[in-house]
Amino acid sequence: MTHEPPSHEMHASRWGDPASAGPLPDATRDLVELAFGIRESPAAVDVTVPVPSLSPGQLEELRVLLGPDHVLTGDEERRLRTRGKSTPDLLRARAGDVADAPDAVVRPGSHAEVEALLALAVRHHLAVVPFGGGTSVTGGLAPRREGFAGVLSIDLVRMKALREVDTVSMTAVLEPGLRGPEAEALLAEEGLLLGHYPQSFEYASIGGFAATRSSGQSSAGYGRFDAMVVGLTLATPQGTLELGSSPANAAGPDLRQLVLGSEGAFGIITAVRVRVRRLPAQKVYEAWQFGSFSEGADAMRHLAQNALMPTVLRLSDETETALNLASQSDVGGGTTGGCLMIVGHEGPDVAGRRALVSAALEGLGGTPLGEERGDAWVAGRFHAPYLRDSLLDVGVLAETLETATFWADRERLYTAVKDALTAELGDRTIVLCHISHVYETGCSLYFTVATPQAEDPLEQWRAAKARASQAMIDAGATITHHHAVGTDHREWFAQEIGPVGVSILRAVKAELDPTGVLNPGVMIP
Ligand SMILES: Cc1cc2nc3c(=O)[nH]c(=O)nc-3n(C[C@H](O)[C@H](O)[C@H](O)COP(=O)(O)OP(=O)(O)OC[C@H]3O[C@@H](n4cnc5c(N)ncnc54)[C@H](O)[C@@H]3O)c2cc1C
Repeated sequence: MTHEPPSHEMHASRWGDPASAGPLPDATRDLVELAFGIRESPAAVDVTVPVPSLSPGQLEELRVLLGPDHVLTGDEERRLRTRGKSTPDLLRARAGDVADAPDAVVRPGSHAEVEALLALAVRHHLAVVPFGGGTSVTGGLAPRREGFAGVLSIDLVRMKALREVDTVSMTAVLEPGLRGPEAEALLAEEGLLLGHYPQSFEYASIGGFAATRSSGQSSAGYGRFDAMVVGLTLATPQGTLELGSSPANAAGPDLRQLVLGSEGAFGIITAVRVRVRRLPAQKVYEAWQFGSFSEGADAMRHLAQNALMPTVLRLSDETETALNLASQSDVGGGTTGGCLMIVGHEGPDVAGRRALVSAALEGLGGTPLGEERGDAWVAGRFHAPYLRDSLLDVGVLAETLETATFWADRERLYTAVKDALTAELGDRTIVLCHISHVYETGCSLYFTVATPQAEDPLEQWRAAKARASQAMIDAGATITHHHAVGTDHREWFAQEIGPVGVSILRAVKAELDPTGVLNPGVMIP
């Protein structure tokens, strides 16, 4: 994977590199016009960033602690640290609404500075939001501010070191502010790789991956991010928690699992020890066609249950295949019919496994479509989020949702979520789905929704999201397979883990963060 690390900030009200923002390609625009109609968005609006509420004394303390260059109170810096990149976040940013901008952006350079910042936040009762890449899609960067003297965005951008490499144990210690491509570039210099490629890879950070239990597009081969983590350092208002002295143990419950997915509510992750692999000498990506989503899903289940996992394994449903979203960032163009599966193999020598996987897929009704479409998927794998902005530009509401369930319930969940979305959003809604991650016992379903924007698109999406979320819980599935809880999923997360689960989380929070300054209102119901 050769990806230049982003050297720039993301666009304030769109996904990604401002230079990559563009209109819909002509063919897509024609299709969109046919399906939804085109309604150009209004011209840019004025943005008024609220006056910061920190006192001169508080700002001076921060400057003494971090140095004046690392305490930022300018409008633009605060605007760029406001919320994340969900569709509601983008809609609000487009409308010029930055009412919940942090009062200051502070940039600690070490674990000790993070600890000192937490002590300062407790002293002055300031809420703190750890900021990694800013790609949250669940409101994880939008804490409650009521009752606090102000909000500090703790930007981990200065903590970008590869601290340690152990090629005997095959582990590496990474600092939290490293973005995906930066971490991979540092590891590649040692002949190593992590293998974590979420669609947000170009901007999301190591700390964010751990704090949200992220899952990447190569999870079939390299595992979810939480499976890669062997150790963590967490700064809390009560002191430092250092975890991971052995690869596995029976020393009580595994506290690493309490930190993974804690979304800044229990502390700030300042280092992550990960398991690494040798850089693969070979990479082959190919496409397969299956007659139906069910047939393709059964084939995936067979691979997962017979130790035949490739590195990448994804399957688009009929609608997603027809729109060709699986293999490129544009829609339309030549499609395969049926359902498209992407299969990728990476390793020192992939021929043996590829032959076994291919034989199994052919035996289960798959037709090989060759490497061209596989390579097209690789080339376009990080482009789709730009399409969402171009759709918003022409009055189409587009957003994604994800969940997971056991194989036996896959079909029921698929139908329930699709039905919930179309019932709420109406007949002109298009719902696409793919199986994005596969396990022996089940899989995740990733939905993309597009519908004409209503007068109040925020309310339109809130209602649809609520209905689809309830459908997930009612179907016995999880509210999130990899996007995390944030503020948006809390209500359904509470249903998923029940009152005892909620009280455990609250008790841990009360111990580690007695004054509640850490990301208030995020994750914990
Ligand atoms: C277009 C797009 C595509 C996406 N694709 C995927 C995908 O394929 N797979 C996937 O898993 N997710 C995906 N996401 C969701 C998101 O990218 C992930 O949740 C990612 O792990 C967040 O990382 P980040 O560094 O951007 O974290 P941020 O957005 O900065 O933060 C996320 C949460 O973690 C907390 N946090 C951040 N850093 C730390 C730290 N060091 N210590 C403690 N808490 C911290 C924040 O306070 C916040 O609550 C996608 C998002 C977008 C916008």
